[in-house]
Amino acid sequence: MSDRYCVIGNPIGHSKSPAIHALFARQTGEDLVYEARLAPLDGFAAAVRAFAAAGGRGANVTVPFKEEAFRLCDAHSDRARLAGAVNTLSFADGRIVGDNTDGAGLVRDLVFNLKTPLAGRRVLLLGAGGAARGALGPILEREPEAVVIANRTAARAEDLALHFAEVGPVRGCGFADLTGESFDVVVNATAASLAGEVPPLPEGVFSPDALAYDMMYGKGDTAFLAHARRLGVARLADGLGMLVEQAAEAFFVWRGVRPDTLPVLAALRAA
Ligand code: NDP
Repeated sequence: MSDRYCVIGNPIGHSKSPAIHALFARQTGEDLVYEARLAPLDGFAAAVRAFAAAGGRGANVTVPFKEEAFRLCDAHSDRARLAGAVNTLSFADGRIVGDNTDGAGLVRDLVFNLKTPLAGRRVLLLGAGGAARGALGPILEREPEAVVIANRTAARAEDLALHFAEVGPVRGCGFADLTGESFDVVVNATAASLAGEVPPLPEGVFSPDALAYDMMYGKGDTAFLAHARRLGVARLADGLGMLVEQAAEAFFVWRGVRPDTLPVLAALRAA
């Protein structure tokens, strides 16, 4: 029988993860099935345990359960511990092991797919929620010149910067404090695009060759990417590449095989 995996979230109906993992399995010849599972908001732990008890080998975790998943695990990878959140669960010998592949997925998309090295660059990370927290460790590992976290609630950005102070050069602030600064890579990890809004950035935060990256994705430009395009920012990318790369990293954690992501990304873009 095929090995079973799933993604657990609420809502989950629009998840692209089953399609992505089906393409990975076909490409690599791995014998597995991967489904989407809706967990009630107060029933995440029960849903995970039921899936593991039914023979599931692993699960991805999405909104809003990544922090609860962290607390549920018996053991964590270093990157999950740093992020304080888990998006990849592995079940073995009655234990639940948690990993976090979101940040690695973002960095792989930036560095390999978008040919945007981070070493020696100035990186602006907008937002201080779970996605920003997951991204910081892998970004800092690439040895950027500086990372600034800017958030609507400045204190959350400052706290996050303190948490990562030993990992690399990082500072937290509010959006208005960015006046006079410019960055080579600007990553939007806020949920503002979901509401069609754009964080109020001072003029000049995008350096002339900057990449504007929105973790959100959908049809056409997100609000953030449309704003960057109006400002004349030359290089724009949405978060679909991050989604595929975090999935590939999870696939590697489970199966020890790294899928070729570019054809899968192309198939999703064409769909
Ligand atoms: P959280 O709810 O944990 O954090 C939300 C963040 O957005 C906070 O920093 C919040 O600021 C800020 N924010 C919310 N609304 C606004 C607004 N109108 N203007 C400015 N800032 C705002 O969300 P996540 O971190 O989990 O997710 C953030 C985004 O990343 C989502 O769009 C999500 O879809 C995307 N994502 C994409 C992934 C991918 O694979 N491509 C993976 C994970 C996430 P404050 O602290 O002031 O409330």
